[in-house]
Amino acid sequence: MSKSWPVTIVNVGYRSTNYWVVSAGTSRLLVDLGWPGTMGWMRASLDRMDVPIKEIRYGLATHYHIDHAGLAQELKEAGVPLLVLDVQVRAIPLMKRWIKPQDQYVDITMHDNVTLSFAESRSVLERIGIPGEIVHTPGHSDDSISLLLDDGSAFTGDLTPLALAIEDHAAVVSASWRLLRECGATRVYPGHGPVRPIDGDSFA
Ligand SMILES: [Zn+2]
Repeated sequence: MSKSWPVTIVNVGYRSTNYWVVSAGTSRLLVDLGWPGTMGWMRASLDRMDVPIKEIRYGLATHYHIDHAGLAQELKEAGVPLLVLDVQVRAIPLMKRWIKPQDQYVDITMHDNVTLSFAESRSVLERIGIPGEIVHTPGHSDDSISLLLDDGSAFTGDLTPLALAIEDHAAVVSASWRLLRECGATRVYPGHGPVRPIDGDSFA
């Protein structure tokens, strides 16, 4: 299959968090993976946006906080393999600290994830028809990553807008925005709030 499809992006988010489906034809990637205990909402939202769950080739969490990775295991059980960057492996078990029993969180198993390095990300994405790469963008958390498409779209999770970065973290946050810009990012698809141009975020 060498035919390449234009990449489209839809938001299947709910409860003030954005979940993005990046599609090349019917080959799809889900960026950020729902709140714990909300698989019904996620399924309804995917249905509403005409995204068959069986067409989602991978799930990718921008970082392991509960509103971004809370359904990772249930999505795996529904047939969506989990892509984990090597810098994220340690963060997965730590996420449980923030979860209460009533959240109905299903623990993420570790042996059956697709673990990759940033250097491998372009070829993994290429295999599902999506031109781009995954880059390390710490600042909000050490395990924060961004998906950067070759068309300039950057899925940044909770990477702090530079104006809001507190002093201790400002250097790390600023380096992450600089990296995104240097790699060609022009538009930000954040974990919360509207899509925006990157310009306001990248220079202090
Ligand atoms: Zn977060």
